[in-house]
Amino acid sequence: MNLKAKGILLTGLLLSALAAGGCPNGGPESGTRKEADAPVSYFEISDALRSEGLRKENAYALLSDLVRVSGPRLPGSPVAASAVEHMRRVMDELGFETWLEPTSVQHWVRGEESAEILDQTGRKIDSLTISALGGSVPTPGSRGITARVIEVASMAELDGLGPSVRDDVVFFNRPMDRTFVDTFRAYGEAARFRFEGPSKAARHGAAAALIRSVTPRIDDFPHTGMVGYDPAVVKIPAAAISTEDAEALSARLKKNPSLRLNLRLSCANLEPTLSANVIGQIRGSVEPGEIVLLSGHLDSWDLAVGAHDDGAGCVQAVEALRLIQACGLKPRRTIRAVMFMNEEFGASGGRDYAADPGRKNEKHIVAMESDRGGFLPLYFGVGGSPEAREKFAAHEEVFRSLGLSGIRAGGGGSDIEPIVRQGAVPMGFIPNGQTYFDLHHSGLDTLDKVHPRELELGAIVLALAAFIASEEGI
Ligand SMILES: [Zn+2]
Repeated sequence: MNLKAKGILLTGLLLSALAAGGCPNGGPESGTRKEADAPVSYFEISDALRSEGLRKENAYALLSDLVRVSGPRLPGSPVAASAVEHMRRVMDELGFETWLEPTSVQHWVRGEESAEILDQTGRKIDSLTISALGGSVPTPGSRGITARVIEVASMAELDGLGPSVRDDVVFFNRPMDRTFVDTFRAYGEAARFRFEGPSKAARHGAAAALIRSVTPRIDDFPHTGMVGYDPAVVKIPAAAISTEDAEALSARLKKNPSLRLNLRLSCANLEPTLSANVIGQIRGSVEPGEIVLLSGHLDSWDLAVGAHDDGAGCVQAVEALRLIQACGLKPRRTIRAVMFMNEEFGASGGRDYAADPGRKNEKHIVAMESDRGGFLPLYFGVGGSPEAREKFAAHEEVFRSLGLSGIRAGGGGSDIEPIVRQGAVPMGFIPNGQTYFDLHHSGLDTLDKVHPRELELGAIVLALAAFIASEEGI
């Protein structure tokens, strides 16, 4: 493909870099050399992006700064507010056009939490490792709830018990199905108990809900997540229990079904507060009103710094823009990075972004969200119509040259759903998800779990996909 013939604007920086055998300080793995005035192909652009992207650990440095400056970024918290300022400053310093767009967020605070197993006399036998679910109401008074524990493994089992669980703690002990290769599918099935379980239990009169953490590992780290209260039912306190303690509690209950549990949660739902989506872009040189969107979500859970979920996606979007700029590419359409706020508490950032009146002069042609962890990209996903996929699949070999297996159906994310409903084609790389749910929403989601090369490769793939989409349209 002759990009110069197609009107692609390349600066002297890229052309001279390619002429020298690759991007600045690197070389194409193919080893081909080009004259400065030779046509430039997507393979050569891919080489340039790869060379620049793997030369240093830029995305990793951005992530390291983000988690050091901010820490856990629960929506509405002062830490999340500092992360907003930080990411805008980072993109300002890179020379992108930047701004903030306000979004109202739920402001929930965790407080103290404990769960103790008691014998019939009320004596403490053991304590359990728990973590309140996001949005949970607190337990009443200072003594919390003391009640029987009723274990169920399915919604049908709960319904079968019906009103007999009144005033009890319902313990949803449904493990993640380890037999699926697609861990996201297994997660979706098990996370339903976390999201819907508390209100299902409340419907039968339960006093509280305890949910087995949604992870395939057996360890002592609770994994939190948002509870989805049914507005028609009374809200009951809800917490996640570590898988190790879920197994131990289950074993105890088999020996002694009359065990009681004392649950204390002092979490609180405060007034909603204003936060912001953070936006940076490289304006399109020919069609600035057409947007190729790259995104992640800046908020995280509070049990760790959210390095994979989703600090990784945010810094990959920024790094992708930096790569395009550093390689001297002048995209035809606008390439925009958005760090959405409040994904974990209902994705209001994505909804407000799509609904903003400022969008009316913009047409989003492509939307990508990296929110599956900063792991090694396996393949590239293109959603939307079969025609869109076919059009993009014409560039499959370029993606293969970066180690991806090819282009398949896929792409999407909760923040970009509203903009996809308005017509943007969802896309994105699909990373290796085998270990994501080991750490997702838990105290294990820390910087040391992210491998710099895997993170950088994701940013390179995003930069390549964004640039091709900006040149070709979809
Ligand atoms: Zn996420």
